Amino acid sequence: MRSIGPTEIEQRLSILRAAMANSNVDITAVAPGDMMYYLAGYASYPDERLCLLLITAHQVAMVVPALNAAEWQTHTALPLYTWADAEGPHTALRAALSSLAVAQLRRLAVDDEMRADFLLHLMEATGGPEVIPLAALGAPLRLCKSPAEIARLQAAAAQADRAMQAAIEACQPGVTEAQVAWAAEQAFRLDGADYVCFTLVASGPNSAFPHHRSGQRVLQRGDAVIIDIGASLDHYKSDITRVVHIGEPPPAFLRAYEAVLRANEAARAAVKPGVTAASIDRAARAVLEAAGYAEQFIHRTGHGLGLSVHEPPWIMAGNEQPLEEGMVFSIEPGVYFPGQFGIRIEDIVVVTASGAHTLTGLDRQLVVKA
Ligand code: ZN
Ligand code: ZN
Repeated sequence: MRSIGPTEIEQRLSILRAAMANSNVDITAVAPGDMMYYLAGYASYPDERLCLLLITAHQVAMVVPALNAAEWQTHTALPLYTWADAEGPHTALRAALSSLAVAQLRRLAVDDEMRADFLLHLMEATGGPEVIPLAALGAPLRLCKSPAEIARLQAAAAQADRAMQAAIEACQPGVTEAQVAWAAEQAFRLDGADYVCFTLVASGPNSAFPHHRSGQRVLQRGDAVIIDIGASLDHYKSDITRVVHIGEPPPAFLRAYEAVLRANEAARAAVKPGVTAASIDRAARAVLEAAGYAEQFIHRTGHGLGLSVHEPPWIMAGNEQPLEEGMVFSIEPGVYFPGQFGIRIEDIVVVTASGAHTLTGLDRQLVVKA
């Protein structure tokens, strides 16, 4: 698999710099997280120690806690301004800022997920310029994935297929939601995942809560079980949902399952470059509305996926953004009947010239466990 090289990073920085120039932004500051990894090729573990990537039209500087400096040097050639625990970050931050030689700091763009204490340090050191969120620059960063990124997302999706298989196998009367979640978690870790993002197992009436947290409920005959899992593999994320029924499902459940499956298929079939994100949501929603489930589909159809589990593009009504080749997102229609059951079928697709290519490969037929 190709790695993310310096050329790719340079391209990303030039996209950001063009957007900064358009919005009169002199410095962009990014904290440890997915955006730092995207723009620097590395991101250290996020904690309370001040760590900032500072970007101007022509320069880059890193403020780094001293304990992480050696590791940064093995990943990047960026100029580092380090600080030790006992001295605090102020001197390093001021040195980094003055190295950037910005004559007059008019506007500062900050990473949308930056900790408040990092921002307060920045405000103090820069004298309080106008601050705007990085997202407001509208730079098309991370939206369309490169072939190297798509290869990583494909590998992550294949890994999620295998972990889902393990979770489905673990489903049987008498085991808890937490035990099924553990089966998925273990499969991910033994398969080489960086870490597990979430293992959501919702059984029986819990399956009617779209974001139920797996607990100690014991699976029993008559339960619908929604399994929604995802992990990070080589920094890129996976996300897949399948449904298991313990014992023979009643006709009302089967009818709803068929409708959700058709909604998933219709939305994936509607994907192609040039159509809007909203039209994909519409394609899924139309199927569920026609089947009489308009009131039960209570969330958007999907979300972008990449370095983050949830990122643009948002596949929902009102988002008139046209789809482009290389965008990767989830298609996850669902229906929820409070007190009874829920159903959601989620796949990850990449937009190609000829339509959607589905990265998740696991069979979508309902799994019935005796
Ligand atoms: Zn999911
Ligand atoms: Zn999802």
